[in-house]
Amino acid sequence: MSEHTITVAGVAVDTRHWIGGERVASTQTFPDVSPIDGRTIGEISRGTATEAAAAVAAAKAAFPAWAATSRAERARILHAIADGVEKRIEELAIVETTDNGALLRSHRRGVMPRVAHNFRFFADWLQSLDHEDFDTRGHTNHVSWDPAGPCVLITPWNAPLMLATWKVAPALAAGDTVVLKPAEWSPLTASLLADIAAEAGLPAGVLNIVQGYGSEIGDALTSHPDVRRISFTGSVPTAKRIAASAAANLTPLSLELGGKSPLLVFADADLDLAVDLAVEQYDNAGQVCLAGTRLLVEEPVAEEFTRRFVEKASGLKQGDPRDEATDIGPNIHNLQLEKIDGFVQRAVADGARAVIGGHRRDGQYYAPTLLADVAQDSEIVQEEVFGPVLTLQTFTDEDEAVRLANGTRFGLAATVTTGDPERAQRVTAQLVAGTVWVNCFFVRDLQAPFGGSRLSGVGREGGTWSFDFYCDLKNTVTAP
Ligand code: NAD
Repeated sequence: MSEHTITVAGVAVDTRHWIGGERVASTQTFPDVSPIDGRTIGEISRGTATEAAAAVAAAKAAFPAWAATSRAERARILHAIADGVEKRIEELAIVETTDNGALLRSHRRGVMPRVAHNFRFFADWLQSLDHEDFDTRGHTNHVSWDPAGPCVLITPWNAPLMLATWKVAPALAAGDTVVLKPAEWSPLTASLLADIAAEAGLPAGVLNIVQGYGSEIGDALTSHPDVRRISFTGSVPTAKRIAASAAANLTPLSLELGGKSPLLVFADADLDLAVDLAVEQYDNAGQVCLAGTRLLVEEPVAEEFTRRFVEKASGLKQGDPRDEATDIGPNIHNLQLEKIDGFVQRAVADGARAVIGGHRRDGQYYAPTLLADVAQDSEIVQEEVFGPVLTLQTFTDEDEAVRLANGTRFGLAATVTTGDPERAQRVTAQLVAGTVWVNCFFVRDLQAPFGGSRLSGVGREGGTWSFDFYCDLKNTVTAP
């Protein structure tokens, strides 16, 4: 084992970048800390503009050959990567849990199988993309999905490998080459993906991975003139910086950003279902972009809903994410905890009432919190907290429900619970959101468009929409 390999729960992980099919070390490193116990897992290569340039150069050099590879061959390699992920599900799951503190049981049974599915789905969807042909006064129009070039993919820590592969898989399927920059708080599983991709036979330089702080390596990636696509998942402030940086070359962007999504409970809803869905919003310690963090409940059932919610939420077990019985693990980082607590304490000082929670717990945990008596224009209702913090507001009719639901700068998702299908139709038609769930939550199909309106994002990915983004569409007109 090289001096750059660390062992995480028995799994060997290389701490260097992966550039042009080789491991490359930086002279400087940054510490990767586990949210489970606050201990440093290892020192990771800390990329700079030099590594960014080398990774883009490798992606550029590998592009012509990869773009010329047949669709069937690209799909074969993506399926081989999926096989590799499936073989290593246990290892990927424990490394991800150690790195970002999300539940081991979800990684094992939900997230890592989904990572493999990301590769299989886009490999297969690629085969179904038709080259469209149509006629103009005897001339043939032939529309083709051409590979676009090197892509920079930048991802967050809340679901590291799942969100990374949701971009990597369609980009590779499209015939593009990739430079992936994982979040500095969760760098490890991306490094394992490099091993898996190499074993699956992905040619050198087609997938490159650079580690480091966004503030140090980000601009060099996003302002690079050889980069043909940038897909980013993360926060709104970072997205604005990336958009400004990409503007130099008018590099096309896909931005999947934050949310402050509403969960509406009408008086005619199945209240047990509504309570189950509301408590589910604490999943991943509230670090889910799609979370319905604003509970909007119709007046006549508000008291009963709150009583049942408190009863159910009080039964949640918070603790070590490796324990099968745990429902809520730690938050990612002390800085994030301070941010969460800052939001809550300012809200309470502003008159909010903590129905449950409202405080930190020992270690890196935040008590699941529900805040009532909050004003629509208050910070706690308007801003994304990204922790286990929900707000409760009531409404008296459909118009008010829609007004409150749409009353933030975000538009990522919304959940509506009602027993009346016509009401569901009326309300969903008026909601501003990329995804709306009726009497359910987090049902996601990779063929659906995914993204956000307003500050929640720019563009859509998923199914054909991913290929719309990662391909250059070309129309060739041939005379008779
Ligand atoms: P973040 O914006 O701080 O960081 C995301 C990534 O951007 C990291 O890899 C970081 O290193 C990088 N980065 C930072 N500065 C950069 C720069 N100047 N140039 C280039 N890259 C830079 O976000 P985060 O805290 O890691 O993630 C949480 C946010 O992500 C929340 O707002 C959440 O809602 C959002 N999110 C959105 C979705 C979605 O699909 N819409 C999914 C998950 C998370």
